Amino acid sequence: MSDYVIVGAGSAGCTLAARLSEDPACKVTLIEAGGSEKTMNVRGPGLYFALWRTARDWAFTTEPQEHVDGRRMFWPRGKVIGGSGSLNASLYVRGHRSDSDGWRDAGTPGWGWDDVLPLFKRSQKQRRGASAAHGAAGPLDVDDQQGLAPASLAFAEALAAVCKVPAVTCFNGGDSTGAGHYQVTVRDRVRCSTALAFLEPARARPNLTVVTGALVTGLVLDGTRVTGVRYRAGKKDEIARAEREVILCGGAIGSPHILLLSGIGPAAQLRAADVKVAHDLPGVGQNLQDHLLTTVTYDTPGGSTLALTRISLMASLLRYAVAKGGPFARSPVEAGGFVHTRAGLRAPDLQFHFVPWPTDDPNTDEKHPPPYGRRLSILPSLIYPESRGEIRLRSNDPAAAPVIEPRYFSESADLELLVTGVKLSREIAAAEPLARHCGAEVRPGPAATTDDAIRASIRRHVNTIFHPVGTCAMGTGADAVVDPELRVRGL
Ligand SMILES: Cc1cc2nc3c(=O)[nH]c(=O)nc-3n(C[C@H](O)[C@H](O)[C@H](O)COP(=O)(O)OP(=O)(O)OC[C@H]3O[C@@H](n4cnc5c(N)ncnc54)[C@H](O)[C@@H]3O)c2cc1C
Repeated sequence: MSDYVIVGAGSAGCTLAARLSEDPACKVTLIEAGGSEKTMNVRGPGLYFALWRTARDWAFTTEPQEHVDGRRMFWPRGKVIGGSGSLNASLYVRGHRSDSDGWRDAGTPGWGWDDVLPLFKRSQKQRRGASAAHGAAGPLDVDDQQGLAPASLAFAEALAAVCKVPAVTCFNGGDSTGAGHYQVTVRDRVRCSTALAFLEPARARPNLTVVTGALVTGLVLDGTRVTGVRYRAGKKDEIARAEREVILCGGAIGSPHILLLSGIGPAAQLRAADVKVAHDLPGVGQNLQDHLLTTVTYDTPGGSTLALTRISLMASLLRYAVAKGGPFARSPVEAGGFVHTRAGLRAPDLQFHFVPWPTDDPNTDEKHPPPYGRRLSILPSLIYPESRGEIRLRSNDPAAAPVIEPRYFSESADLELLVTGVKLSREIAAAEPLARHCGAEVRPGPAATTDDAIRASIRRHVNTIFHPVGTCAMGTGADAVVDPELRVRGL
C-alpha cells in the first residue's frame, strides 16, 4: 500500500509526485491514463500542434455553443506524462497579485500573493538569475526566447505606444501590466514541463511507482473517507490503496469527472446518470471558466515573418530533429502584453499574444492542413471571462467523455471585450514600428467595418486559449468543492 496515490501525471501530478517522494520513507504511486512523453513532438516547444488529435491528446469537444454560431469547439488536453504541460505553448505567466490576494481575503488563508510567491520562486530556475520575484535554484527552467522575429519586437513597441503601457521585461512580479516578450519554460531548446523538471529526476526512486496507460474509473470510499482509487489497465480492473491521501490531479475536466463517477457531486445529476450518490456536493463540475481569444491577422509582404510552406515546414522539422534548431525550438507565441481597457480596474482585463505565423482558418474546430503563407496574428484574449459553464456526466461509463458546456459568450460582456480587443489590435497594427510589417488585413478583413461585422467574425474565429478552470473550486461557501487545504469538503 502507498502513503499517497496521485491521479494524473500532468503539470500538478508530476510536481507532487516528485515533492512527496523526496522523503524516502514515504511511498507514492502516480497513476496516468496516457503514456510516454519521450517523443520529438513533446520535446520541441513549437511542435505541440502536431500532438493534437493523436493518442497523446484527450481531444475533447464542447457541446454546440449557442452564442458562438452553434460551434462545437475543440479542447486539446494532454493524455501523456506531463499532461497538458506536454502539449502547451510553454509561456511562463503567473497570475496578478490581486487574484491571489482576492482568494486570501475571501476566506482561504495561505493563498495570498506574499504566501505563494516563495513557492513560485522555490520551483523556478530563472535563467536571468535570482531577483525579488524570481528564484534561480529550482528545477523548472524559465528562459528568454532567442531569435525573435523582427515583427514580434515591433509588436511589443507598438502595443506599448497605443495602449500607453510600459515596455516591460517581466510580466510575473505581481502586476502584469505592460508590453514585452514572453518568457518560456524551456531548457536548452527542449520543453521543460513538470515531467522533465520534477518527475524525471525522481523516477529512479524506489519509493515512487508510476503507472501509465491506466484509466482511473472512480474512488474507493469507506464511509466519508477515500481510501484508494479504481483503475483500468488494459482489460484488468485494479485498485490502488492509500494509507494517507488520494490526490486528484486530473485537471479541470478529469478531476470533476472522477468525483462525479464516484458519486460525489450534485445529487440530482448523479441520480439522472444512474450513479449512486455517495456525497451530495453541488459545486463539482460547476463554475467552469475559460479564456477565449480571437485573431486579427495580416499578410506580411515585406518578408519580416516566417514563411510557412510545405518545404519550410519539412526543413524546420529536420532542423529541430538534427540540431534542436529552427522555429520549433521556440514557442510560436513570442510577444504580448496586458492592458486595462477602462479606468478603475484592479488588474488588466485584456491580454495580447503575438504570433509571427499564420493561424488556423477559420478556427481549430476541425483538423485543417497547416495554414501556409506569410502572415502575422495579433490575438487579444479575455483574462476574467464572466460566462460560466459546467462539466457534467454524459453517462456512468468512465470511458465516455463528460459533457463540456462552457457557455461561451452567455455573458455578452465577454464578446464586447473581444470587440474592443479587435479594435485595439487594428490600432496597434497601424502604429509604427509594426505598421511597416503589416500588409492587407486578412481577418476580420477590411469589410468588417461595423461592430456587428466584428462580432460575426469573432464568433466564427474565436478559440479557447486552453485554460479551463474552476470546476473543483476552493472556498468556504456552499458551492466550494475543496477547502483552503484542498481537501474535498465533507469527506
Ligand atoms: C494547447 C495548450 C496550450 C497551453 N498553453 C499554455 C501556456 O503557454 N502557458 C501556461 O501556463 N498554460 C498553458 N496551457 C494550460 C496548462 O497547460 C494547464 O493549465 C496545465 O497543464 C494544467 O495542469 P493540470 O495538472 O491541472 O492538468 P493536466 O496537465 O492536464 O494533467 C491532468 C493529467 O491527468 C490525467 N488524467 C485525467 N483523467 C484521468 C483519469 N481518469 N485516469 C488517469 N489519468 C487521468 C491526464 O491524462 C493528464 O496527464 C495550455 C494548455 C493547452 C492544452
